[in-house]
Amino acid sequence: MGIRIIQPMKGDDINRSHKLLDRLDKISRKSVRHFAKNFLEAETVPDFCSIEIETQNRCNNDCAFCPVNRHNDTRKPAVMDEKIFYSIIDQLHDMDYHGVVCLQSNNEPLLDGRILKFAEYVHAKLPAAGKTLFTNGILLDTKKFLSLAKNLDRFVIDNYNDNFELIPSVKKVLADISSPDDFKCDILISLRKKNQKLNTRAGTAPNRINEENKFRPQSACNLPFTQMIVRPDGTTAKCCNDPLNALTTGDLSVQTLREIWRGKVYQELRKEMFFNGRQNIDGCEFCDLLGLQYALPTSAAPNEFKRLVDEIRLRKNLSAMYIFDTPRTEKLSSCSRRTALFLTVSSTSAEPKTKNIISSRRNRPLPNGRLC
Ligand code: SF4
Repeated sequence: MGIRIIQPMKGDDINRSHKLLDRLDKISRKSVRHFAKNFLEAETVPDFCSIEIETQNRCNNDCAFCPVNRHNDTRKPAVMDEKIFYSIIDQLHDMDYHGVVCLQSNNEPLLDGRILKFAEYVHAKLPAAGKTLFTNGILLDTKKFLSLAKNLDRFVIDNYNDNFELIPSVKKVLADISSPDDFKCDILISLRKKNQKLNTRAGTAPNRINEENKFRPQSACNLPFTQMIVRPDGTTAKCCNDPLNALTTGDLSVQTLREIWRGKVYQELRKEMFFNGRQNIDGCEFCDLLGLQYALPTSAAPNEFKRLVDEIRLRKNLSAMYIFDTPRTEKLSSCSRRTALFLTVSSTSAEPKTKNIISSRRNRPLPNGRLC
């Protein structure tokens, strides 16, 4: 698969255009509604297709959009008991889990010295899952990079620099690697700005709190139907955009993953989302994340949506944009053709100001994906 360097076009570019957001929201409404209806009518509650495990809850960066960056994190520091971590992975193994497992949530995973051995364990126990990790790369070195690349299916390095330059640690790793195309893992180096305006993070993003005239999506949100988040103390949260846990959905010290996912708190949350939308749910009422994002079934991405993505690409004069499936999720079948889709809108035109090691495969879609 190799290494690709991309420059995602999200946040500033898209958030400023309410007209564009309105169109995306309208398409999202239909798709999410259809998906949620199938979910609620299923005889057995379908399993989640993405789980994020936050093994500790700190970050070492200071991005302006993040409510839990190192300067303003109000969470009580916590580290996950290893027993909880291994129990989660063992439960996923017993479930024959084929979805995505992310080894971080609202934290920097390399701050946890155990993360390499955790990735090894996940690799051994969950061969069919899409094993994923996002890091800001600050603590990355070549040894860690090679170990993670061996045990993951997707490895995303969010390289934060407002000039789109590679940070020193990432530059060094890339200089040490002689054959970037040889990795089986899909490695993305995402050139991102620290001062970008992203979504409101359930109303908590520091650089959007005082913004007037915020966009309010009308679509329901699919994350309570698709994604599970585990915090270091074993409690679970409704989504990755709610780092301060406006709503806790369960506790793994006294419940299993499936008990939580199929339990009353989650089902009531989903029904509320389906029948009344976001307005009465803590955090969701201030959230501007479009429904058609993360973990929606591939079948829910209508042609209309693909056409719109293409239109944005042309308007922004971008070389390519991607809609792609998450790795190894095509086997998910518990909810009518339920496979996970991630939307990434990317320009591949970024050239790092360093030795050019961009993989020759950079313009190809990810596995099972489509290039728009
Ligand atoms: S609407 Fe926002 S806060 Fe609510 S579940 Fe979706 S992503 Fe999370």
